[in-house]
Formats: sequence, C-alpha cells, structure tokens
Amino acid sequence: MYFVEVILPLSLAKTFTYSISEAEFHYLKIGMRVAVPFGKSKIYTALAIEIHQNKPTLYDAKEIHQILDEFPVVTPIQIAHWQWIASYYMCAIGDVYRGAMPSALLLESETLISQNNHQVIDPSQLTDDEFLIYEALQQQSSLKVQDIIAILNKKNIFPVIQKLIDKNILVLQEEIQESYKPKLVRYIRLHPKYDSNQGLSELLESLKNANKQKAVVMRYFQISASEKKPISVKKLANEANSTAAIVKALIEKEIFEDYFLEEDRVIFKGKITEKELQLSAQQNRAFLEIKESYLKKEVCLLHGVTSSGKTEIYIKLIEEYLETGKQVLYLLPEIALTTQLVGRLRTYFGNKVAVFHSKYNNNERIEVWNQVLKNSEKAQVVIGARSALFLPFADLGFIIVDEEHEQTFKQVDPAPRYHARDAAIVLAYSHKAKVLLGSATPSIETYFNAKSGKFGLVEISKRYGNVMMPSIELVDLKDKYFRKKMTGHFSDILIEEITSALSRDEQIILFQNRRGYSPVIECITCGHVPQCQQCDVSLTYHKHKNQLRCHYCGYTMAKPTHCQACSSVDLTTKGFGTEQIEQELISIFPQSKIGRMDQDTTRGKFGFEKIIDSFKNREVDILVGTQMLAKGLDFDNVSLVGVMNADNMLYHPDFRAFERSYQMLTQVAGRSGRAEKQGKVIIQTYNPDHNIIQQVTTNNYGAMYNEQLYDRQIYKYPPYFRIIKVTLKQRDFEKLKAGSLWLYEVMRQNLLMPVLGPEEPVISRIRNEYIRTIIIKIPQNISIGITKKAIQKMLNSFEAVAQFRAIKVTLNVDFY
Ligand code: ADP
Ligand code: ZN
Ligand code: ZN
Repeated sequence: MYFVEVILPLSLAKTFTYSISEAEFHYLKIGMRVAVPFGKSKIYTALAIEIHQNKPTLYDAKEIHQILDEFPVVTPIQIAHWQWIASYYMCAIGDVYRGAMPSALLLESETLISQNNHQVIDPSQLTDDEFLIYEALQQQSSLKVQDIIAILNKKNIFPVIQKLIDKNILVLQEEIQESYKPKLVRYIRLHPKYDSNQGLSELLESLKNANKQKAVVMRYFQISASEKKPISVKKLANEANSTAAIVKALIEKEIFEDYFLEEDRVIFKGKITEKELQLSAQQNRAFLEIKESYLKKEVCLLHGVTSSGKTEIYIKLIEEYLETGKQVLYLLPEIALTTQLVGRLRTYFGNKVAVFHSKYNNNERIEVWNQVLKNSEKAQVVIGARSALFLPFADLGFIIVDEEHEQTFKQVDPAPRYHARDAAIVLAYSHKAKVLLGSATPSIETYFNAKSGKFGLVEISKRYGNVMMPSIELVDLKDKYFRKKMTGHFSDILIEEITSALSRDEQIILFQNRRGYSPVIECITCGHVPQCQQCDVSLTYHKHKNQLRCHYCGYTMAKPTHCQACSSVDLTTKGFGTEQIEQELISIFPQSKIGRMDQDTTRGKFGFEKIIDSFKNREVDILVGTQMLAKGLDFDNVSLVGVMNADNMLYHPDFRAFERSYQMLTQVAGRSGRAEKQGKVIIQTYNPDHNIIQQVTTNNYGAMYNEQLYDRQIYKYPPYFRIIKVTLKQRDFEKLKAGSLWLYEVMRQNLLMPVLGPEEPVISRIRNEYIRTIIIKIPQNISIGITKKAIQKMLNSFEAVAQFRAIKVTLNVDFY
C-alpha cells in the first residue's frame, strides 16, 4: 500500500491522502504535482508533500489520476514556508498554495480554456489529441477542462493542455478577461545587410544629399559604440535632435530596421555598463555598516532620507551576492515601479534581471518560475511585488524590501493575508539569507525592532551629492480663508510659488489625498447626499463623465438633475478631489499643461507608466495626484511640491493615521528638489501646530517615532500588542448582530487579553452585506501560537451553531 499526501488548491486546512501504485511510489517526489479526483466529479492539480505507507483511518484513499511533473516544481523550503504562512496568518494551506502558483500550473476541471487568437496555428503540426481540442475550439470560444476530458474520452489530459499552453496555442480564460496589453517600445538597429562593415561607406555616400538623415545615422553609430543597450526610436530622435519622422524615413530606405520589445523584457546584448558605480563616502559607510551588521544579524534596516541614494547601495550589495552565485529577490510595493527599476538594474546586471508579477501572462510567469527553480543566470535577480516571494528559489542569498513601510506589502483579500516584509524575513531564515529593509520613513514596528537590537540599523541623514532637503512652508488655511486669500483651494502663497516655478521651467507636483474625499453632490434645500444602494457610502461625483459612482462596488448613475429626497433642483458639489483641483488649475494657469494621476487615470494596465513618462519627458508642467505619487519616484526637474490639504489624512479613524500622515507627507515632500537646487514644499493645513505637521516640517523622524511609540504603548497597539482583526459579514442585519455578539462574548471570556467590539466599521455595509469587526490584542508576553489555537477553537464552535452558519468570518493577523 502506497500513499501520497497532497495539498489541494482549495480553501481547506487539511491535507489529503491518495493512493498510488508501487511504480508511482518510486517515481514521485515531494514538490511534484499530481492530478487527483475530489468531490463527486471534480479534478484538481494537487501538490505532493509527503510520500508514505500509512493508510488513512477516516476515509478510503482514492487513486490519483496522474503524475504531472518529471521533476519537483516546488521546493521543500517553499512548502515549509507556505505552511508557516498558513499557520501564522490563520488560513488554509490550500489558500496559500492557490495564491502562490501561477494559475496555468493549477489546471482543474472547472478551468476555462480558449484558443490564443494572437498565435498562428498550423493544425497539421498537432498530435491527434491536440487536434481534437483545437477543432472543438473552432466551434466554441472556450471550453472547460472537463469538456475536454469528455472530448478526448480520457481522464489524463492535463499534460496535453499544459503543452498547448506552453506552446502559446491555448490560454486560460482569465487572461482574456484580463486582456493583457504589454507596453511595446519601438527599437531600431542597422539593417542586417550592413552587418559586415562592407557597404557602410556606400551607405553614408547615399545620404550625401540628405543631411538630416545622415546626422541621425552618425549619431546612431556614436550611441551604439558607447552603450550596449538597444536604442529606441525615441532616444535616437532625441539625441540626434531630430524627429521620429526622419528615423522612419531611414527605416523605409532599409538603412535601419525596427523591432518591438516589451519595456521590462528588453534583452540586453553584449556587455553591461563598464562605468563602475562610485559610492559617495556616506553611501560607502552605510554599505560597510550593513555588511558588518550581517556578521551578527539576519535583518538590517537602512533608514536613509529621500534621495540619499539607497538604490545604489542595494546595487553594490546585489553585486556581491551575485558573485557568490546566490539569488537575489528585490521586493517593491507597487508593480508600476518595476519598469523604472528594471532599467536601472539592467545597466549593471544585464540579463540577469527578471521581473515577476501578477500582470504577466501565464507563460511569462512560468518561464520565470522555472528559471528561479533551476537557479538560472537569467533570473538571478528577481524584481517583483509581494507575490514574487512565492517563487521556488533554489539558493536565495539576499532579499531587499524597498519602501518597507508601504502598506501594500500586506495582502488584504483574499487569504493568505500575509505581510510580504515579515514573510520575507521568515523565508530568508530558511535560506540562511540576509534581508535589507529600506525606507526614508520606516514603519514604527520595523524601527522598534532596529532600535531594540533585533535588526541592524544603518542611517543616512543627508541626500546624495549634498543636495539639500527641501524647505517646507506651512500655510494656515483658516487664516487664508478668513482673509479671503484663497482662489478655490489654492492659497495666494501656493499660486505665487507655482507661478515662479513655471517661469523657471521647473515642474510641480500637487498632492491631494485619496479619492475617498472626492466630491459629493449635496442638496442645498434639504442636505441630502446620494448614497449607494448596496453600500454604506456616499456616491462620488465624477465631473468629466458627469456621473455618480460608488468606489466600493462600482455602481454608477448619471448625475441627477434634482434631489431624490425633496425634488429641489438646487444641487451643489462638496468636498474636493484631484479632478476638481485639475479644473481649478486649468482656470488659474490656462497656459500650462496639467496632468492628473489617480485611480481613474491609471486604470489601464500601463496607465501609471504613461503618466510618469509624460511627466519625466516634461510634456506636463503640473501633475496633480493622490498617494500614488508618494511611492519612490525619482524626478529630476521638480522644484515645488504642494500639499493641498494635510488634514484629512490626520483624522482617519485608525491607530496608524499619524504615522501614515508623517510617511505620506515626508515622501511627497521628498519628490522636490533632486538636482543641485533646494526644493520647496508648501503644505496647506488647518492645523499648522499639529505635532505631526511640525515633525514633517523639521524632518524629525525620531520625534515622530517616540511620540507614536508612547501612544502605541498606552493604547495597546503594535509593536507592544499584536492585533488580530475578525471580520463578520452577512446580509441579514439581525443575525449578524446576534452572531458577532456571541463570538465577542466567547472571546472576551476566554482570552485573557483585550478584546474589542463587536464594532460597526465606518463603512458598515458593502455590496449589501453588513459588516461587524472584533479586534483582539495579544500582549507580547502571551504566546501567539497558543492564542491562535484558542481562537481557532472558538471559531469552530461558532461555525457549529446552525443559526450562524451563513455568517462569513475572516481573520486578519497583524492587520494593517
Ligand atoms: P533614494 O532611493 O534613497 O530616494 P536614489 O537611489 O533614487 O535615492 O538616488 C537619488 C538620486 O541620486 C538618483 O538620481 C541617483 O541616480 C543619484 N545617485 C545616488 N547615488 C549615486 C552614486 N553613487 N553615483 C551617482 N548617482 C547617484
Ligand atoms: Zn433635497
Ligand atoms: Zn456600492
């Protein structure tokens, strides 16, 4: 009797036992995938985590259908890491497995498959099975895997489908819905007929009477001699002071030929930059201190002010790990930032840099997955957002978590609700790898760990090249409104500063916090504000589409002409968002080009990059944006940053509101003045004397930290207490109320620690489900493991109560 223990890609905490033959017993290895039947008629891709001879006692083991791999695609370290995530973040191991693997590696009977319409298919090249699938897809736009099982009349079909996916003939339906449109960049090279030097003089001769074209060709030779990177049409036109039209004419003449590459998949030819990176004295000191801390500690915090050149220090460290053959993982808070960084890293590490993120299609994700598994040179440095943490690293040496304070490192939904920074530290431990956390505004938790000696701490207090920190000026809004010195939302000082920056051809960033504060329509007669019918929120007014919209469920309606409550036609807009700031700017500065960056303008896949590019290329003078602007962007011509209203962040009902306000304001301020000149920041606020505003102004991270730490201790928050947030949801208001009260009482009586709630959150209904939350605060001296076991037990009893069965409960450990 031979068995395999597997994880199923379902929200199930248990593993399952299947029976295998003796031959399979000898062939199968931990980390291989197997197709297994589950439930009445479903088939899933499961992961083998143990091969044994212990017959299960509670059920008869079913047979597996088939082994899917020839070698393990998941490593033992990964499996252990996933188990840690499941246990620490209190979720099912199946959830972690499902979230960790590219979906094309997790085929199941319900998976929808379609033909890839971008691929020319030659049916004569297909095997019989492949042909039958192909033929069926000529009749139907998509098929479920279980339909294919019926068509081929056999169970073991995952490998056939997998092969067709690998060959790019089939794609998963989810990708079609995603409609992946990578950004393509147009590059040029000399036409192959000039590959050997013959004919070059002929070529130049032929351009004798076309001076403009000749100049472009000459410039092309210069650039390609000094840089080994591909040359884009845009770059050539720019550097030759020419136009894209002239480059195009040269393509038509077959002197150049063009080709397209996705921006972050550009392959570098030849050698990488020969210019050696020279660290400044300060950077070098930090670099040595970090290495020194690694003699004793596994994790180090690099706390360096904005523009201190942290990236260059990362690069120097990466270099050392690569020399020893180790793999490096570079985590970023936001996918949109990868393109910029990839370019920077590839000039040093060439094709050793790979990118991994959820917006890549399955083929690309599987490609990186396999490269990482085999420790291929092509993916020795992996850049990615939090999910890159799940790759099958063979020999990981170093993890960088850049902008470690960013809350996007914490996954909110669905489970696993892990924190990538914390999970990275645990992963590094199993690889005996080192971790570097970088930030200008570290999270309170991380700084606490560094101060208490758990992490190393290295600080840089000056900007690279002795660029001065920006000077920050506060504008008291109360006073300005009182003296009638406001034009819309702009104070006279802000307008003056914008005018003067524009006159010097410098660029400006205006920061308007999050769209939750966007305008609403209000009835002047009765005060009614239109609400979403499914969620407990006001609808946001979008001027340019003339509609009202719910940001929680996506519901939209045309802007009403009269009040729904009293029928009055006197409606006004209240509050202000980026769109309104943009409108006001257009009327105050009609000559300037104005751009806007918020969730609406960056909706498309590369919307963010487009806006960043046009701002970098100085096609935009003033950029208005939300907190997206605060994330590690590097602009060299911005001399003024304006914060429209610093207050609405401060008064968020959240224990991290002050810390976050400090981080956000300091980060946006940091976008100002990167070149030789000191930048300027204007912060408009009703509370110029507020401690946080003062700490931002004086760049006093230490004061902010001490004050927040004191509050956290008094009010029982991290780092002194670990927080678990329990969320309960149901459509029936009364049942939810009863259920959450029941659970709260059980927890309060059985856990010897603060339990708060059950609370109605600020937004207490989303998509017609009512919401209640309970907060558990676990003190440092109580074992978190034992507490979690106790909580799990209570949840099990809760689920056993019939009347509560319809209530959905989710847990968020270390809730952010
Ligand atoms: P941070 O990430 O700390 O905000 P960056 O790494 O973006 O700072 O550096 C800020 C600017 O200074 C960048 O334009 C970078 O290219 C430049 N810079 C930093 N260190 C060096 C160095 N050693 N040599 C050349 N340029 C540097
Ligand atoms: Zn009304
Ligand atoms: Zn809604």
